[in-house]
Amino acid sequence: MAAITMNHIVKRYGDGFPAVNDVSLDIADGEFMILVGPSGCGKSTLLRMIVGLEDITSGDMLIGGQRVNEKSPRERNLSMVFQNYALYPHLSVFENIAFPLRLAGTSDAEVKKRVQDAADVLELREHLERKPANLSGGQRQRVAMGRAIVRQADAFLFDEPLSNLDAKLRGQMRTEIARLQRRLGVTTVYVTHDQTEAMTLGDRVAVLRKGVLQQVASPRELYEQP
Ligand code: ADP
Ligand code: ADP
Repeated sequence: MAAITMNHIVKRYGDGFPAVNDVSLDIADGEFMILVGPSGCGKSTLLRMIVGLEDITSGDMLIGGQRVNEKSPRERNLSMVFQNYALYPHLSVFENIAFPLRLAGTSDAEVKKRVQDAADVLELREHLERKPANLSGGQRQRVAMGRAIVRQADAFLFDEPLSNLDAKLRGQMRTEIARLQRRLGVTTVYVTHDQTEAMTLGDRVAVLRKGVLQQVASPRELYEQP
């Protein structure tokens, strides 16, 4: 787990108006932070700069107190949870969760232990031999989270993970993600343009507009303000 600190972060793509304009934000260790705002306000750009998929024009990004501006995504040890949970259909739940460990060349014994530990937390123990097609939407979401857990990432990052789902499934997934985040207590940054998601999921909501951070408040504070 790790706190994420942004100090005066700016991103320019070319000579136009900055996509992210002087954003300073502290995300506490274990906090669930929502980034919300209309399309084009800079949410994805900010998330990509946290993960290391986008260069920072100016300002400092700190993860666990360490400046990471020049660090590769791999060195940052964060986990992006993919949209539509991008599971491999031909692989079992076990192998889907194990995937990042296989890439890293982890020993079979260690893979088995870490996948089983993750499956316990996620209540997937009985489903390890099944294929993704035979799982419910909620179970599939948990498998995707399992991949993030086995890597023992310091933080989870979500970029509009539910935007392509129907309303019913979206509601279920929201509940699932909130439950898991509380259970695991892993620092989480979650991007959405959906007000309901913003108001129901996070500990705090950071509101972006045209690249500028407008306010940071708890859902309750946002709700009660005039
Ligand atoms: P959001 O995620 O809130 O929809 P983005 O971070 O995707 O916003 O985009 C913020 C701004 O930066 C937009 O004006 C967008 O057009 C611009 N932008 C995003 N990615 C690029 C890119 N690779 N090259 C140039 N401009 C970009
Ligand atoms: P690392 O752990 O080094 O960050 P990743 O697990 O992010 O590596 O990805 C390593 C490779 O596996 C990449 O080429 C990526 O495209 C692929 N990959 C990882 N997860 C998925 C996924 N859910 N769907 C499709 N490809 C994936």
